[in-house]
Amino acid sequence: MKHWNENDFKHWLYDLRDEDPHLEECAECRSERDRLQMVRARITEQPDLSQDFLAAQRRSIYRRLYEPRHNWFTLRWALPVAMVLVMVFGLTLQRSRRPGANISDEQLFSDLTAIEQSAEPKAIAPMHKLFEE
Ligand SMILES: [Zn+2]
Repeated sequence: MKHWNENDFKHWLYDLRDEDPHLEECAECRSERDRLQMVRARITEQPDLSQDFLAAQRRSIYRRLYEPRHNWFTLRWALPVAMVLVMVFGLTLQRSRRPGANISDEQLFSDLTAIEQSAEPKAIAPMHKLFEE
């Protein structure tokens, strides 16, 4: 008779298979069965906890259920508000430091008039160098 394979042992562990005479004849399969039986017993054994420990744990759970929430929970909007304030402050600083923001209207109009009255666009000026003799 052939040895038990992994599926045979798995089925035996879940009570889907009965032991057969091979286990009594074969020392190798019997030792694997005993090893699996010890592992199952170790895994399923009840933890050694005293009744006092469990009662104290239960009291702690009930106490935490009924105690008020921590104060930091009421400040949950503080971080988003602070972030918005920092963004507004940063944008205000950037806008006030932008170059050209202090140009007077007269200066702007004179620059625009100068641009409009020149016959040649400024972008053409570098091309004159190409044709100099
Ligand atoms: Zn065997």
